[in-house]
Amino acid sequence: MKVLVAVKRVVDYNVKIRVKSDNTGVETANVKFAMNPFDEIAVEEAVRLKEAGTATEVIVVSVGPAAAAETLRAALAMGADRAILVQAEDEVQPLSVAQILRALAEREQPRLVLLGKQAIDDDSNQTGQMLAALLGWAQGTFVSRAEPGDETVAVTREVDGGLETLTLRLPAVLTTDLRLNEPRYASLPNIMKAKKKPLDTTTAAALGVDTRPRLLTLRVEEPPRRQAGIKVPDVATLLDKLKTEAKVI
Ligand code: AMP
Repeated sequence: MKVLVAVKRVVDYNVKIRVKSDNTGVETANVKFAMNPFDEIAVEEAVRLKEAGTATEVIVVSVGPAAAAETLRAALAMGADRAILVQAEDEVQPLSVAQILRALAEREQPRLVLLGKQAIDDDSNQTGQMLAALLGWAQGTFVSRAEPGDETVAVTREVDGGLETLTLRLPAVLTTDLRLNEPRYASLPNIMKAKKKPLDTTTAAALGVDTRPRLLTLRVEEPPRRQAGIKVPDVATLLDKLKTEAKVI
C-alpha cells in the first residue's frame, strides 16, 4: 500500500516564541525552523510500515515556502521515498491544506494518509479531520497504535478517559499522538542519499485549490506574565494562605 504523509515546516519547538512589535503575528525572521514534531512521528510510522513490508511507497507532502523543501529532505533522510512540495509563500490555513491533500490523495491513491494531530505553530488540530471529511474516508485521530491489515487498520486512540480501540476501513486518515513511536535520527549516509530522491514542486492553483485565508487574525499578544511565587516557612502558613488568600480550601 502507498502511504501519504503530510509534514509542516514550523518554528523549532526549542525556540522561545516572540510576538512581533506590531502585534500582527510571531517573529519568524532569523528563527530556526524544523519539521512539526507530530509529523516526524507520522514519517517514522510510515517508514516502519515500509520496513515491515506493509507499505510499498512513502510519499511526503509539504505546503509552504521554498524552504519547506528542507523539511521534505529531512523526511526523505528518515526513509520516505519521494516528496511533493506545494509551494505557497503566504499562510495556508487548515481547510486549504486539507483541500490540497485531498487533490493529491485523489491523484496518488494512497491507502493511508498520516498527519500529525496538530501543528505546534497554529495548534489548530483540524487538517486531518477536514481531510477525512472531504475524502469521505474513515479517520482515526490521536493514534498511539496503528496496525494495518488488507482491508482495515486497527488503531488505539488516546482519549480523555483512557484508550479507545477502533477498526477502520481502508483507505483511512490517521493523525499521530506522541506515544505512537520515537522518531529516528537520520544517519549521515541517509542524509546524503536523500539529496538524490525525487522532490516535485507544484502549486495549490495547479491542484485547483484557492488558498485565500477565510479567517483573519486581528491581533497577537504575549500571554500575561506569571507573578513570582513566594516561599512559606511551614505547612501551617501554607494552609492558612490557601484558606484565607487563595481561598481554594
Ligand atoms: P493543524 O490542523 O494545523 O494543527 O495541523 C495538523 C497536521 O496537518 C499537521 O501535523 C500536518 O501533518 C498537517 N499539516 C498542516 N499544515 C500543513 C502544511 N502546511 N503542510 C503539510 N502538512 C500540514
